[in-house]
Formats: sequence, structure tokens, C-alpha cells
Amino acid sequence: MKDLIASKPGVKRLGIMGGTFDPIHYGHLVTAEAARTRFRLDQVVFVPSGRPPHKTGGTTDASDRLVMTQMAIVTNPGFSLSDIEAKREGYSYSIDTVREFFDIYGPELELFFITGADAILGIPTWKDAADLLNMCTFIAASRPGFDLAELNKLPLAWLERIRLFEIPALAISSTDIRRRVKNGDSIKYLLPEPVEHYILRYGLYREEG
Ligand code: NAP
Repeated sequence: MKDLIASKPGVKRLGIMGGTFDPIHYGHLVTAEAARTRFRLDQVVFVPSGRPPHKTGGTTDASDRLVMTQMAIVTNPGFSLSDIEAKREGYSYSIDTVREFFDIYGPELELFFITGADAILGIPTWKDAADLLNMCTFIAASRPGFDLAELNKLPLAWLERIRLFEIPALAISSTDIRRRVKNGDSIKYLLPEPVEHYILRYGLYREEG
């Protein structure tokens, strides 16, 4: 795969869309597009995680998750894909990703990190969390029914760096899609058709526990 993180001309405000994307679905795509327009981002880069430090269970091969993500975003010129986390040896930390983006784009870059609100609750345990919060604004995408009060557990100074963003389409979840595949239920209309075909063709998620 070519180096997908090469700097693009004219990009000043960039969103990193971080997650496992196992698999990517319309909730993620709607979130990224809403963040792109609401925060006037020049580009949203999807960064499927490699080996997340906080997960003990397995995830689908990064190569499959990268292909599915590429299939899902290909029609949107405002979206791109990076394999920097997927190809990184060992555990994958967001701070290393953010530093790499600044190395490529330079110090003028305004960086936004878009991910699930429940993932953001874990920030205090992330590597170099204070540096991370200084280097980018977090966009916390939440599902309907997410208890916003949960975020108040974070230190006030950190909350100032976090924008909450409720996305009704996030009622779709990767966990639910994996469960449906395992049970032989339909996943049509929950994710782009090429991704659906890829999952069925390569037998992904049939054994999901
Ligand atoms: P995850 O397991 O994929 O997702 C956690 C929750 O957030 C799920 O409910 C998920 O929904 C949702 N979600 C994930 N990505 C999303 C996105 N971009 N937009 C909207 N909702 C999203 O995610 P994770 O493994 O906790 O990690 C999320 C990000 O935080 C990754 O980029 C990861 O590398 C980073 N992280 C870094 C550290 C560290 O540096 N130490 C530690 C933890 C996480 P679905 O299941 O439907 O996707």
C-alpha cells in the first residue's frame, strides 16, 4: 500500500478519525462528514488502529480493516486513509500518530481528533494525555442515549479541549454488525455495499464471540 499520509497541499485544519473500524459503518461516515462540515475541516483522515494498548481481545486483521475503510470512503474527496497505526510495530498510541501528523504538515496544522465519546472517557489513561490535549481538539461523537454526565468526570481543563457531538446515525454499531453476521442476520443498509460484500465474501465475523 502506498504511503497514505503524505501531506496534501492546502490542508490547514485536519481531522483524524480514530477507531478500530471493525467494521466501518454508516455511523462512522456520517460522523466524519458532520465533523468535516461543522468544524470546517479541509480533510478527514481515517486512521484504523493497529494493536490498541487497551484491548486484550483480538480485532480483525488490520489489512482487512484498511481495505474496508478504503472502500467506504473512496467516493468522498474530503476523506482519506492512513495506515500509520496499522503498520506500526507494537502497541499503537494516539500521541505518536498526532506527532507524526505535525511532522508531516508542520506546526501551523490545526488538528482535531474525532472518536467515540466512550473512548474519550479513557483519555486519562492514554500515553502522554496532557500533551495530546494540548496538541489537538477532541471531537467526541456520541450515540443517542449516551450519558453526557459521564464526561464531567474528566478534569475541567481537559473538557475545554473536547467538543461533544451527538450523532443519531451512531445507533449503528460495529458490535451489533459483528453479532448480526455471526447470527446470519442481514447487515444491509448499515454499511456501504462494497464493505458488506467484502465481509460476506471473506467470511469475516462468522466466529465472533
Ligand atoms: P473503538 O473500540 O473502535 O470504539 C470505542 C467506541 O467509540 C465504540 O462505541 C465505537 O463504536 C465508537 N467509535 C470508535 N471510533 C469512532 C469514531 N471515529 N467516530 C464515532 N464513534 C467511534 O475505539 P477505541 O479502540 O477505544 O479507540 C478509539 C480511538 O482512540 C483510536 O484512535 C485509538 O487508537 C485511540 N486510543 C488511544 C489510546 C492511547 O493512545 N493510549 C488508548 C485508547 C484509545 P463502533 O464500535 O460502532 O465503532
